[in-house]
Amino acid sequence: MRYRIIVSYAELALKGRNRSQFVKRLRQNIRRKLKSLDMNWEVISIHDRIFVEVAEKDAQLANKAVEEIARIPGIAWLSFVHWFSEKQYRFLQTEPDMQPIHDVIKTMAQETYQPGKTFALNIKRSDKNFAISSQDLARQLALTIYENSEWQNVDLKNADQFFYVNISSRGISVHTNKIRGTGGLPVSTTGRILTLLSGGFDSPVAAWLMANRGCNVDFVHFSASHHTLDDVENYKITRIVKKLSEITGRSRLYIVPYTHFDMALLEHNLAYDLILFRRFMARVSERIMQTINAQALVTGDNLGQVASQTLENINSMNQAITAPILRPLLTYNKEQIIELSKNLDLFDVCCEPYKDCCALISKNPRTKSKADLMEKLEVNHLDDYEELIVETLAETTEVAYRYGQLLYKNDGVNDAES
Ligand code: ATP
Ligand code: MG
Repeated sequence: MRYRIIVSYAELALKGRNRSQFVKRLRQNIRRKLKSLDMNWEVISIHDRIFVEVAEKDAQLANKAVEEIARIPGIAWLSFVHWFSEKQYRFLQTEPDMQPIHDVIKTMAQETYQPGKTFALNIKRSDKNFAISSQDLARQLALTIYENSEWQNVDLKNADQFFYVNISSRGISVHTNKIRGTGGLPVSTTGRILTLLSGGFDSPVAAWLMANRGCNVDFVHFSASHHTLDDVENYKITRIVKKLSEITGRSRLYIVPYTHFDMALLEHNLAYDLILFRRFMARVSERIMQTINAQALVTGDNLGQVASQTLENINSMNQAITAPILRPLLTYNKEQIIELSKNLDLFDVCCEPYKDCCALISKNPRTKSKADLMEKLEVNHLDDYEELIVETLAETTEVAYRYGQLLYKNDGVNDAES
C-alpha cells in the first residue's frame, strides 16, 4: 500500500479537446508548487484523477503539502488516499483478497468516530471487471465498520462521515474526507493579464480571481515616488505581489512613478484630475501590455464603492485605450472582498498603512465625466502626452517573483519570455 494525495479537478471535464492540455498544466503547476517547497514529489494522472506521491513520512510535511495544493487554481477537492495497486490486487481474480482494504477502513473508522454522527460508504467501481459488485463491497465494508468501531448509524445521502473506495483498472484508492479546493482553472491556460495594483484590498483580490480563472497575472503599480532596487522588496506593493505569486506562479510587477504626470497637471488644477489620471494609468499600462503580450488590463474597480467609481468614469477610462479593461469585482460587496482577502491570507499585508496616489491626487473626484471632454482637456493641458508616457516608462522598476521567491529585479520594462 502507498500513501498518496488524490486530486480531483474542477471544471476541466467541460473543456473538450483542450482537456488533456489543461490536466497536463495542472500537473505541472502542482509539481512546481511542491518544488518551491522543496518537495520533489511525483505527480501522475490515473484516469480522471491526479495523484501526488507522498514521498515523506513526516505527517506535518504531508499536511503542509495538502494545504498548499488546495490553494492551486483548478482543483475541486483533494484528499489523502491509501493506494493499492492493481498488481497487488490481481483484479481478474474471482476472489480478490480484500483484507488490506478492510484493515484500512477499520483504522479509518476508529480514527474518525464521532458520537451521535452518521456514516456512509461511497463505492465507485469504474472497472467493471472487478469481481465484487459495489453493493456487495459496501455491505462487507459496512460490517467491518460496525464490528470494529463505534459507528452505528448510516445515512446514505447526508452522512457526517463518508468512506470512499474507488476501484479502477489501475488500482484501488480508499479515503475519507474531501478537502475543498478553490475550483476554477489552472494558471497558464486562459491567457495573460496585467493588473492595476493599488494598496487596498480590491485589486489583489481581483488579481486572484483572474488567476483562479486560469490567467497568468502580471502587475503594474503607479507610485508617488521612485523606488531604488535596494528598497523595492520591502515596499508594501511588492510584498503583496510576492504573496500573490504563491498562487499565480510567476508574476512580474512594474512600479511606475507618476511624478511626470503629477507635475504636468500641477500647473492646471483641473477638476477631472482623477479621471485624467486613470486614463494615464491605462495608457502607460497598455504600453507594458504590448511588451509582455498581455491581452487585458484588470482593475479592482467596484461599481459605486467610492465616489469616483461610476459608469461614466469607467467609460472614460475604457475609451483611453483599445485593450479591454476587465473588472472582476464590479458587483461584489465590500464584505465579500474582505472575506476573500482573509481566505487568501492577503488581509494583513493589505491592511498595512499605505498612501495611494489616487487619494493624493483628488479629494473630491468628479462622479460624471465624458471621454470627449477628457480628450479635450488632455489636448489643451497635457501638450506632449507621448513624451509623458515615454518619460514615465523610462523610470519603471521591474521585480519578478515565482511561487513566493524573488526571481530578479531591474530597471525598465523587459519582455523576457515567461
Ligand atoms: P483598492 O482597494 O484596490 O485600492 P479602491 O477601492 O481603493 O481599490 P480606487 O483607489 O478608486 O479604489 O482604485 C480603483 C482601482 O484602480 C484599483 O482597484 C486599482 O485597480 C486601480 N488603481 C488605483 N490606484 C492605483 C495605483 N496607484 N496603481 C495602480 N492601479 C491603481
Ligand atoms: Mg485604492
